Amino acid sequence: MVRIRSVRKRFGSLEVLKGIDLDVPAGEVVCVVGPSGSGKSTLLRCVNRLESIDSGRIWVNGELMGYTERDGRLHTLRPHELSRQRRGIGMVFQRFHLFPHRTAIENVMEGPVTVLRTSTAQARRQAKELLDRVGLADRGHHYPAQLSGGQQQRVAIARSLAMRPSLMLFDEPTSALDPELVQEVLAVMRDLAATGMTMMVVTHEMNFAREVGDQLVFMDDGVIVERGDPREVLAAPRHERLRAFLGQVQ
Ligand code: ADP
Ligand code: MG
Repeated sequence: MVRIRSVRKRFGSLEVLKGIDLDVPAGEVVCVVGPSGSGKSTLLRCVNRLESIDSGRIWVNGELMGYTERDGRLHTLRPHELSRQRRGIGMVFQRFHLFPHRTAIENVMEGPVTVLRTSTAQARRQAKELLDRVGLADRGHHYPAQLSGGQQQRVAIARSLAMRPSLMLFDEPTSALDPELVQEVLAVMRDLAATGMTMMVVTHEMNFAREVGDQLVFMDDGVIVERGDPREVLAAPRHERLRAFLGQVQ
């Protein structure tokens, strides 16, 4: 589903990704962990092309992200082609970015109505189903400010799912939440993984990684230092940098 090859990315003189190779097979959950500043968010943002890359290749669903290759040369995709590619990729951030003046249902309906041209009635039906799925069937008419952080994040997940993505990217989705609200969001993500959704999850929640992840990737300073089965990697980390990191987060 995702194939990342030799990806490099720099911001000015700072090289943030120094040659990343990573595969995410369809239906798998890859958890990306690592210290702050190691390039995790940048990697996710490169996958859905919120950031350009300096070299390497990223394929999603068999398509080169952001480019088309003709006669051995890369050509930047036209904006509407890039939008079409991005539509298949949902992204959930640390902050929820809901529309404050719209209810939960209206937030979830927005994308399908404006982008997919789904009818209002159909979009509303679907939004209700999705809110039900994230445990918020009774909160559809609430505004974001009337919802807890955990509830807002679950609306944000429902809103992403409304676009029927084939890949979901999560960038520290529980890091901004009060500790008692973390589990309800992780539970929704766990359910989503169980439905076979392909997911890349940047997280510090090692129990989630251990229980839900098919692959754990430890990044440090722009490179993947260690990777493997989360249970094995966490039980017996090989690199000192990973051991030090786990000592801080666990
Ligand atoms: P992480 O998510 O692992 O904390 P990031 O990918 O956010 O790391 O950032 C990696 C490095 O790139 C950091 O040093 C950060 O300051 C820098 N960085 C990220 N985005 C930008 C940007 N748009 N412009 C300049 N530097 C950036
Ligand atoms: Mg980050």
